[in-house]
Amino acid sequence: MKENSTYALCIMAGNETDDGVQVLRVLDDHKYELDEEKLRKILLQPSVKDCPVAVVSVAGTYRTGKSFLLDFFLRYCKATPYDRENNKWLGSENETLEGFKWRGGSEKATNGIQLWPEPIHMTLPSGKKVVVILMDTQGTFDSQSTVKDCSTIFALSTLLSSVQIYNIVGNIKEYDLQHLELFTRYGILAQDDNDTPFQVLQFLVRDWMSPYEHPYGVAGGNVLLDKRLEVHENQHPDLRTLREHIRSCFEKVTCFLMPHPGFSIANPTFRGHLADLQPEFKEGLKELVPQIFETYLTQRIINGAELKARDLYDYFKTYTSIFSGNALPEPVTILQATSAVTLVLASRDANETYEKYMDDEFGTDKPSSTTGALKDKHIIAIETATEIFNTKKQLDPEAAQKELTRLREDWAARLLQFIALNKAKVESAINKAKAKYDKIVYR
Ligand code: GDP
Ligand code: MG
Repeated sequence: MKENSTYALCIMAGNETDDGVQVLRVLDDHKYELDEEKLRKILLQPSVKDCPVAVVSVAGTYRTGKSFLLDFFLRYCKATPYDRENNKWLGSENETLEGFKWRGGSEKATNGIQLWPEPIHMTLPSGKKVVVILMDTQGTFDSQSTVKDCSTIFALSTLLSSVQIYNIVGNIKEYDLQHLELFTRYGILAQDDNDTPFQVLQFLVRDWMSPYEHPYGVAGGNVLLDKRLEVHENQHPDLRTLREHIRSCFEKVTCFLMPHPGFSIANPTFRGHLADLQPEFKEGLKELVPQIFETYLTQRIINGAELKARDLYDYFKTYTSIFSGNALPEPVTILQATSAVTLVLASRDANETYEKYMDDEFGTDKPSSTTGALKDKHIIAIETATEIFNTKKQLDPEAAQKELTRLREDWAARLLQFIALNKAKVESAINKAKAKYDKIVYR
């Protein structure tokens, strides 16, 4: 009996089933611990690592329904195309809402970043197939985290995602815009004529209470956003710069006004059943979720290069390391880190191209060839690999040139190895033929 009553006290609204995988953790002393093993398992799994990657992140204040919303994203992603097209993806009325852990009460989950571990494959409107990474964040602007931790989680998720959903409550406040300041400063540095540093930013206003002023959904949201981003003569120059640059740093900035889910959510037995949600909230989900995945979803592009999942892994590691200091990194530091990863990835791709060209014809399991054929192919392999290297835009042309020279030296050395391998193959073939001859003659 006693046990039962303790149990009853512990029941809180929420789901206790699956959960995302915590890949980044904020430790007590405000250090960041990246669980490389877990990250690798998600991003470098065979069916994922070479796929173009799209990252959908939800960030913002603690306990404002971010994980709850992400679980509806999961429902959409897992639904059949038929159910999506026919608006049946939302599920049945009395189904527990599962996936990322969401909960009522005041207990707080571990600060950091969680990813959904199962691969979600989708097709973009362009026809391109991508793997979608759903990213949940914890510790943004909540009462217990320091400003540094809050900003770090927000910054990391923005730097990594192709769609950043900025979850805010009630209205877009000046304070909410100020959190974007780091990105606008970074954006000014990283921007060039062809590329914007970030893809999609959506302000998602939860519990919108003035549908008569601006209607729910994207239509009302964009009117509100235009108002908030208006630039006035009498604004402080910093506020003006911030507003002017938010739009230019992202390919798309949009806003959605979401109704309140209804007061059943406060009930301790609430499990996220659709039956307990207000009809307006369900209508909101039906507009919001397909819009994100059918209209906004896009591959993450950093510095002009379209990322694959394995590239995202490298950026994840590098960005986490530059945020591990005591202060937030300056935009120029982020730019340098981005530039360093871009170069490493260009070099890796070029080298893999060279190796594949040569291996396909002259690898250990291939028959011997002539040295002339080897040298001809080596020249073509270098040309193709150099082209691959040069298609990647480099922020530091001098470092890029140095790296290309180093690669060419490596390839020259590889040619000698291929020649030596070929010689060994020829000798082995001669020896085999000799042995066969001897066997016949001296039998
Ligand atoms: P997170 O910390 O932002 O991830 O918040 P959770 O997803 O864990 O949700 C915290 C609480 O907010 C849960 O009790 C949810 O039922 C509730 N919740 C979910 N969506 C909304 C919403 O749109 N408005 C309000 N007021 N509460 C919500
Ligand atoms: Mg959460």
